[in-house]
Amino acid sequence: MPRLQPAVHNAFCNLCEAKIFGERYKCTNCPNFDACTSCFSNLGEKHPGHTFVRVHQQIDYIAKYPPRSMHHATCDNCKKGIIGPRFKCKHPDCPDYDLCEDCEALPIPVHPNTHPLLKMKIPTLHSSSQPPLEEKDTEMEDGSDSTLSTITIRPPDYDAFEFATSAAWPRAVSVILSSQDARDMIKQRQEELMQRWTQARGDNLPSDAYDYLTYSHGIAWPKAIVESTSEANFLLIRRRFLDIMAVSGANL
Ligand SMILES: [Zn+2]
Ligand SMILES: [Zn+2]
Ligand SMILES: [Zn+2]
Ligand SMILES: [Zn+2]
Repeated sequence: MPRLQPAVHNAFCNLCEAKIFGERYKCTNCPNFDACTSCFSNLGEKHPGHTFVRVHQQIDYIAKYPPRSMHHATCDNCKKGIIGPRFKCKHPDCPDYDLCEDCEALPIPVHPNTHPLLKMKIPTLHSSSQPPLEEKDTEMEDGSDSTLSTITIRPPDYDAFEFATSAAWPRAVSVILSSQDARDMIKQRQEELMQRWTQARGDNLPSDAYDYLTYSHGIAWPKAIVESTSEANFLLIRRRFLDIMAVSGANL
């Protein structure tokens, strides 16, 4: 029987940013790089030297998402909050340069490849205002990592809220709105709303507190977007936000 509908994939093309229909081309060298059929046909110089597999249907791709933690760092290439391994440049010229695993893996280096990058699997416990702790080769495998013992018990949905507010909302905004001014306006409004809210509370709630994250995700981001763009754009952004949450496996 002929297939009438093109297959829908749970993935977006990294080149044209469209949701992938038909055949999906997944890079086997990159942790998270996909191309749609039309972008794959002229991928050559944009993503050289990497191997791709063709995925016909979503069910052909069996993904197991390892637990991924959020670092207190932003990728200096894609400007997104880093989730999963963080690559910190150790070159003396770069006191503060980080890459996410997606940007680190790109076939055309985004940072001089003579600079040594330190791979940090788990976040260090410092806020961005303090000097970074030197992270030794702390591995999580046996669960005996001492830097983690000071973490207070967090609600089970903490990570999802943190991901939503620091990664999924900004990513959704930047995918839907091509104007940098529009994005800046939203970010600025979001920060204003957070500032006003913490002032009204009269406490110095840190930006990684649970209440802060829930307010930021549930009120400040949607409000900032609605106020700064059209209703139609808000709905597009919200839909993309939900897709990003679903793909990341974060459950709210
Ligand atoms: Zn594409
Ligand atoms: Zn690749
Ligand atoms: Zn990046
Ligand atoms: Zn560097």
